[in-house]
Amino acid sequence: MNNIDNLYRQVIMEHYKNPRNKGLVDDDNYHTLHLKNPSCGDDIYVQVKFENDKIVDVRHNGTGCSICCSSASVMSELLKGKSIDIANEIIDDFYNVVKGEEPADEERLEEAVVYSGVSKFPARVKCASLAWKAVGAVIAGEKGEFTDE
Ligand code: ZN
Repeated sequence: MNNIDNLYRQVIMEHYKNPRNKGLVDDDNYHTLHLKNPSCGDDIYVQVKFENDKIVDVRHNGTGCSICCSSASVMSELLKGKSIDIANEIIDDFYNVVKGEEPADEERLEEAVVYSGVSKFPARVKCASLAWKAVGAVIAGEKGEFTDE
C-alpha cells in the first residue's frame, strides 16, 4: 500500500467512525430522499434544506458499507453552504473522480478526492456515489424512494 492509498483509507475510516451531519431532522423545510443500493445493501436517507439558491444544511442517515457511509459524510460537509450551481458542478466532478476521470476542479472537491480509488472497482463506484446521487436528485426536485439497481 502506498502512502496516498493509506491516507485515503484514513480519511474514509475517519468519516465512517465519526460521520458529520448524521441523523435526520423532523422539519418540513427539509427535502428528504431515500436511496438504496441492493448490490451492496447500502440504504441511506439524505435531507437537504435550501434557502434561496443555496444549500444551507445537508443531513444523512442510514446503513451501509464504509465507502457509502463515509461518502455521505464527506458529501454533507462539502455541499453544505454551497450554491446550487456550485453543488451541481461538485457532484459532476465527484462522478468523474469515481469513474477515474479528471475532475474540472480538483481543489474544490477537497477530501472527496479520496474516492478516486474506487474507480478500479465498479461495484464500489455505486457505494461511493449513492449519497451524491440522492442529493443530486433532491436538487433536481425529486423526492421519495429510489433504488439504484
Ligand atoms: Zn456499499
